[in-house]
Amino acid sequence: MRYAETGFDLEIDLSRGNIEKVATDPEMTELYLGGQGTAAKILWDRVPPEVDPFSPDNLLIFSTGLLHSTPVPGANRTSVDTFSPQTGLYSHSLFGGFFGPELKYAGYDKIIFRGKAPDLVYLWIKNDKVEIRDAGHLRGKGAQETATLLKEELNEPDAQVASIGLAGENRVYMASIEHANSSASRGVGVIMGDKRIKAIVVRGTRDVHVARPAELSEISIPMYREMHDNKDCGDTMAHGEGDAFHVDNFAWGNARARRRNFFTKEMEEEWMALEEKLRVRWTACHNCPKDCHQAIVYPGRPPYFQKCYSKLTYAMAAFGDLDFDYDIIGVTQEHGLDAYSTPQVMAFAIELYEAGILTDKDLPDFPADNESRFFYLVEKIVRREGIGDVLANGVYWAARQIGNGAEEYDHNTIKKFEQVPIKLGHVNYPYFLMYATGEKINITQIEGSFPQAPIADRKEREEFVKQWDAAPERFKKWFMEWEPRQNPSIEAAVHICDWNETMHYIDDAIGTCAFLSSFRGQFGGRPPYHIYNLPGFISHASGIDLDSDRLWETAKRNRNLVRALNIRRGLRRADEKPPEDHWKNREPETEKKLLDEYYKFKGWNNDGIPTRETLDGLGLDFVSEDFIQRGILTEDEAAPFERTAI
Ligand code: SF4
Repeated sequence: MRYAETGFDLEIDLSRGNIEKVATDPEMTELYLGGQGTAAKILWDRVPPEVDPFSPDNLLIFSTGLLHSTPVPGANRTSVDTFSPQTGLYSHSLFGGFFGPELKYAGYDKIIFRGKAPDLVYLWIKNDKVEIRDAGHLRGKGAQETATLLKEELNEPDAQVASIGLAGENRVYMASIEHANSSASRGVGVIMGDKRIKAIVVRGTRDVHVARPAELSEISIPMYREMHDNKDCGDTMAHGEGDAFHVDNFAWGNARARRRNFFTKEMEEEWMALEEKLRVRWTACHNCPKDCHQAIVYPGRPPYFQKCYSKLTYAMAAFGDLDFDYDIIGVTQEHGLDAYSTPQVMAFAIELYEAGILTDKDLPDFPADNESRFFYLVEKIVRREGIGDVLANGVYWAARQIGNGAEEYDHNTIKKFEQVPIKLGHVNYPYFLMYATGEKINITQIEGSFPQAPIADRKEREEFVKQWDAAPERFKKWFMEWEPRQNPSIEAAVHICDWNETMHYIDDAIGTCAFLSSFRGQFGGRPPYHIYNLPGFISHASGIDLDSDRLWETAKRNRNLVRALNIRRGLRRADEKPPEDHWKNREPETEKKLLDEYYKFKGWNNDGIPTRETLDGLGLDFVSEDFIQRGILTEDEAAPFERTAI
């Protein structure tokens, strides 16, 4: 019997209309655990680097995490993995809610789509019954509206739905996949649209077996209570903390302007009163005692669930206010647009217009105020109408297509990502490494285990460290030594980046929410999950006996495999940098040293390629062999690290 996982994937060939239930190899689970880990292995095996993201041979994989549908609380993140046309590289996104657990209750660990449907379809899964159905009647419908209509049509009010809106249908690069109170962004919705999948509807009523139920309950029940009582976990920012941190520290407009001390007490009161007025209720995800999402009803707009990151992104990009943000999300979320990159694209278009690079010919009847302009641009982009067809490819591609100086306004893209999280000021060493070397980019997927800033008061610092039981001793020491207005040492920055990302790779394989784990250690106290207690949950649920060291090694394997996917597609050191003007003051020599030291620490050569020694040591011999065959590594490249000249 398989424990924690079901042992079956659904393979859907959309071109042929073929559906297969395929037994999976338990050894894969031992090596990669599940979620993003096993998805990366499938992409490695089946999507060679020559495959264009829009090719029918590209795969779109929805993965449950290993701990979904077990008693382990807060395990509900579904991983979506594919290759994105925005970058030509690997694309990974997560969404919470209820979809992954429901898929497991239906009897599947993953849905793997290949091919392209001849016309718009949806997938209907009810335990063993799996059908590809016509979705012609849903064409042009909003993402949430589609979910409601399908549940009614199927008479399945308890089904879970992941769907796209008009943006995905029209292959807008910023298209998201929407599900209940959550969504997946960063290049995955466009592939769902390209494959002509309007929605996936799933209903499952089966049991998921666990290896040691009594032992698992013994730790899961108190964990649920602890999460409930623990103020240091969940998305605390969603709970109206005043928003000053974001509006004061992150860039406004097209990733440039900063408005220090913008947020006043009066504004805080006004914004919180507005939230109170529009919020119908708070909602949670599957088997979680926290409530991080607000159900919002804005007058004249369809109801929607608001996620923490979308709360300010439109307002800040448009120099608008919170009311505008609540208003426009009612529109953009129904269209299935990523609330992170889309506002930047629209702010970019406005800047081009104000600079005379885009004109009234490109933007006929363009309104005079920013907020109306955003509403105007949304409709052009999701329909790919006129200049919207160009903007729908994101800032990076649009800038190059428009030309005439538009590239100068592309402030915030890099080879790997359409928009990086926006902070200005001095270069920050751990953040430099996270932005430069990460294969994920959302703030909640790169930072989290180590605080963002030092604590000035030494007593408070000591208190913080005393309670910080998720941290290994060296991190406590580095934090105690960290003084205000200083960067951590290069050695500490390297370890901090590695620790942050390894914890995320663990979460993304087992499906636990980062707000309960990898994203929360930075605020001190006790994040419910950490490297010392996660092995117990995984072992009791799955029967795979592992300790912290073995879990760490598994996350390293997954991380190196994900890097290998991008290396095989041409990613190299030259691509690993935050945007040129991301920080006002840069330190080129230190940045070079940071990369040198980080690569060395990771066992990568000076071009950022995992060495043969590293790969073979992690059981990724098939990667090193492939790299040698392709001339990416040489036979003897257990690669001594060579320093590059400045
Ligand atoms: S902590 Fe919040 S976002 Fe995470 S699973 Fe729980 S309710 Fe969802």
